[in-house]
Amino acid sequence: MSKILVTKPFQAPYEEVSAEIQRAWDAQWLTNNGPLLNEFEEKLNGFLGTSDCSIVSNGTIAIQVAIKAFNLSGEIITTPFSYVATTSSIVWEGCTPVFVDIDPFTFNIDVDKIEAAITEKTSAILATHVFGVPCNVDAIAKLADQYKLKVIYDAAHCFGTEINGKSVMSFGHLSTLSLHATKLMHCVEGGAIFVNDHSPKVDSLSGKVSPLRYRIDRLRNFGHYGPEIFDGVGINAKNSEIHAAIGIVNLRYAQEIIADRARQHDVYNSILLGSGLKFPHIEDNVQWNKSYYPVVFQSEQEALHVYNGLGNENIIARRYFYPALNTLSYIEEQGDTPVASEISKSILCLPLYFGLENEIITQISHRVVELCDEFRS
Ligand SMILES: *Cc1c(COP(=O)(O)O)cnc(C)c1O
Repeated sequence: MSKILVTKPFQAPYEEVSAEIQRAWDAQWLTNNGPLLNEFEEKLNGFLGTSDCSIVSNGTIAIQVAIKAFNLSGEIITTPFSYVATTSSIVWEGCTPVFVDIDPFTFNIDVDKIEAAITEKTSAILATHVFGVPCNVDAIAKLADQYKLKVIYDAAHCFGTEINGKSVMSFGHLSTLSLHATKLMHCVEGGAIFVNDHSPKVDSLSGKVSPLRYRIDRLRNFGHYGPEIFDGVGINAKNSEIHAAIGIVNLRYAQEIIADRARQHDVYNSILLGSGLKFPHIEDNVQWNKSYYPVVFQSEQEALHVYNGLGNENIIARRYFYPALNTLSYIEEQGDTPVASEISKSILCLPLYFGLENEIITQISHRVVELCDEFRS
């Protein structure tokens, strides 16, 4: 079999991409919060049904700017089961990550264990909706209210996921999205911060915005408020018109991409469900975007047997997420997270990307079952 990668970036017809880029070219406006970027923000809000998003240069800086927007300090409660950017952003911003174990069914932070981790130094909860499956947002909101904590969701995987028909981006004070090429929706490199601030609006350069949005827009653009006024310390977290052009085109295919993920899940499920493997639990009120196909094996040894067996046939699965983030070399307090430790060792994400054929998914699935049988006998 020719090589099957774990993921491939979605690529729209090139003519469509070049036609959008042509607009930026003709306008001779290539970056700095231009018309295409604003259009991309509007269309992203339009698709998701959200009211306020600020596009930035990637999903990692989105987390960092979110932390900065609240001037967080001290301890941030977080999950050990996510991509490294969740933890590294906390550390980069001079805060201390405090790791709480995950729920064995959703693989998200275990809300029943958060309270015990709160101290007088805790300033926020930064949780990941892992693989696009939402955290228990109601329980987290309640705790945050009670202890006056900020809630930031790393929603990098969540484009298109909904809770009761509402985008998962509308929960928490801020949610961050990644628009990286490997994500379900992308603009090559990019990210977005979704703002849920309902306090009275303030004047900004482009009309009235919420105070939090105001702050984020200063942070992402060097602090600029006009050419000569700098309102606070900022960074360059802007994105370009070229990225926005590609994002605008890709958004036209969003519905199709999500539907295609569902098709692929159905094929995998038809063979793999009931073969002694574990999959994320999805609540009834959740419309999952099915952005990944994670499988938890019965042990690390079994997962590695399958990983290597597939690899020998040019099928590339990924140990996603491994290692658990509380084991990173720069982490001082690992906490006690046996569930995350076990799941990160025994999980694989199987190939999933737009256009991956049913036939190939069927072959991969049968091979997974055979390799498990082989390992278990
Ligand atoms: C991809 C990802 C990020 C980082 O996004 P980039 O756009 O690559 O910087 C952060 N968190 C999670 C969970 C991710 O999967």
